[in-house]
Formats: sequence, C-alpha cells, structure tokens
Amino acid sequence: MAARILNGNQIRDEIYSELRGEIEVLRAAGIQPGLATVLAGENPASKMYVASKIAACEQLGLKSWNYTSAASATTDELLALVESLNANNGVDGILVQLPLPPQVDSKRVLDAVHPAKDVDGFHPISLGHLVTGQPGLVACTPSGVMEILRRSGIKIEGANAVVVGRSDIVGKPMALLLLHANATVTVCHSKTRDLPGVIRRADIVVAAMGRPGMIGADWIGPGATVIDVGTTRVTDAKQAELLFANTPERLAKFREKGFTVVGDVHPDAARVAGAITPVPGGVGPLTIAMLMSNTVKAARLRRVALQISASQTVTSRAGASLAKF
Ligand code: NAP
Repeated sequence: MAARILNGNQIRDEIYSELRGEIEVLRAAGIQPGLATVLAGENPASKMYVASKIAACEQLGLKSWNYTSAASATTDELLALVESLNANNGVDGILVQLPLPPQVDSKRVLDAVHPAKDVDGFHPISLGHLVTGQPGLVACTPSGVMEILRRSGIKIEGANAVVVGRSDIVGKPMALLLLHANATVTVCHSKTRDLPGVIRRADIVVAAMGRPGMIGADWIGPGATVIDVGTTRVTDAKQAELLFANTPERLAKFREKGFTVVGDVHPDAARVAGAITPVPGGVGPLTIAMLMSNTVKAARLRRVALQISASQTVTSRAGASLAKF
C-alpha cells in the first residue's frame, strides 16, 4: 500500500497561521519581531536561501534586514557586524548564512551571535539548553521534523527512532529532540555497521546524510515513518533514471528541467513506508517556518521580558495579553 504523504507545505501553513496570531499580540504591544541575515560572498544557493527567508518574513509581517559582505570579508569584519546586530534592540534574530568564505573562522562568527538572538540554535549555550532539556532556541530543521511528526499524529514515545547522520546542525539535535520525546534513539553515521539492518528495525527513520536515494525501499520496515531531510541537486541523467525508474512522472519532470532535488531515501520507499515526507515539499518548508517561529519566540522571550521588567505592572490590554502569552 502507498505511504501517507506528510505534506510539509500544509504543516508550514498551519504554523504560519498560528504565528500570525502571536505576531498580532506582539504588535499590539509595540513589538515587531525582526530577523537580520548575514550573507558573505556570491554562493548562488546561499543567496537563494536568504531570499526565501526574507520573503517569509515579509509574508508574516516580520521586519528583516539582509547584510551582505564581499567574498573577501574577514573574520574581524563579520565579528564587528554581528556585534552591531547584537547591540541593536530592533533585531531579535541573527542568521549567519553558511557556508562563509574559506578565510573566515565560521565558528568564531557563529559563537559571537548573542544566545538570545540565536535563531539558528547553533550557539553552544543553545545546544546546552537542548542537551539538558531546558527551554530555548532549537535548530530549525530538527525542530521542523518534530512538528511534522507531532502534527501528523505519529507516535514518538517508545518508538525505535533511527537518525542517519550526526552533524551538529541536523543529526545530533534531532537525536536529542527524539530522546526528549521518549523515543529509543539510534544515531548512525558513515562508520555504522549494517546500516540497512539498523534502519529496517526502525519505527521512525530520519535520514540526513546528503546521499541521494541511498536508503533503498528494502531498507525500510513495512509501515515505518520516514522523514527525509536530505536535499541533493541531481543533474546526471543516468542517476535520475535509476532513481525514478518506477516514478515516470518524476523522470519526465527531470527531463523537462534538466535537474531535480532528491532526498536520501529512494522514491520507491513510498511503497513500503507507512508515512513519508516528499522531497521537495517535506522538511524544507518546515526549516523556514521554524526560523520564523524562533524569531517570534526570541522577540517574546527577550523584549517582552524587558518591557515587563521596565513597566513592573502590566495593566494595558496589550500587556495583559502578553502576560498570558
Ligand atoms: P553533513 O554535515 O555533511 O553530515 C552528513 C552526515 O551523514 C554525517 O554525519 C555523515 O557521517 C553521514 N553520512 C554520510 N554518508 C553516509 C553513509 N554513506 N552512511 C551513513 N552515514 C553517512 O550534512 P548535514 O548538514 O547534516 O545535512 C545532511 C543533508 O540534509 C544534506 O543533504 C543537506 O542538504 C540536507 N539538509 C536539508 C535541510 C532542509 O531544510 N531540508 C536543512 C539542513 C540540511 P560521518 O559523521 O561519519 O561523516
């Protein structure tokens, strides 16, 4: 039987409509959450990602600023920019688009972002909060995966969850979120023995490797939930033919456009899984939705706390709604 398709665009829209209500409450209190993006160099994919993040801010009525630097930018220049954004009260979230040019010390720049504005959830303090289960700003892609699972009614507690990939931005935070939700979690990587066997025993598989179509249909246990985080642009016709031999509509689209974006899970897995995210249109839309959500959350945590402590008593109508928030 064909798997249930977990539609990321639909879940993103649900989250946006909830966020609009939160943004309205903040607006009534004179707060317009704002996101600043930092882009260095001319990487076309980075430019496209930043443009879609700015477009999402505009769609929701958030303030946004896109700071661009030349490919020759230095670590000191980017540190100075991040410091100025840290000091700007109108900026609630700072997103440093990766990769930074090779001469830049990316870790120093990321660590310079004030933890209260760390909407990417990459700062060691944010990671510490995640490890210890304290509230805070959590990396967008893994928290988007949790939204997909929860809003689709997938049972996490007690499930055997396998996360394939152990990067700091996807695999590790993903494993921690699933663990906090009481799944029994196995984290796999390039040195894992018998990867197909480990994946086959999973109730929930989260694939985040960047290896197009590597997880075959016969690696998936019947009825398992499959979340495909991987996104690789495929331009090779032979590779596309292998991937889409049983999905002619995808092959036709590939031939029309000359490229396609493919996840880590072979498309045929949709015949075995119980539920599966498509690529594109699965996890991707949630990553941006969670960035918006983190920006609103950062504004709420930092600015409302500032406002409440400044006024001491919350008597206005807006203040009363904020207090309930
Ligand atoms: P990454 O930093 O390159 O990490 C890849 C991980 O996969 C590593 O832990 C690596 O293991 C593991 N891996 C690679 N080949 C493997 C193999 N043959 N068998 C088992 N494990 C293997 O990548 P990332 O930043 O986490 O991103 C992963 C994928 O997700 C990429 O396709 C990326 O484009 C995509 N992504 C999508 C979104 C979205 O919004 N949809 C967001 C972020 C990332 P080792 O640690 O042993 O090397």
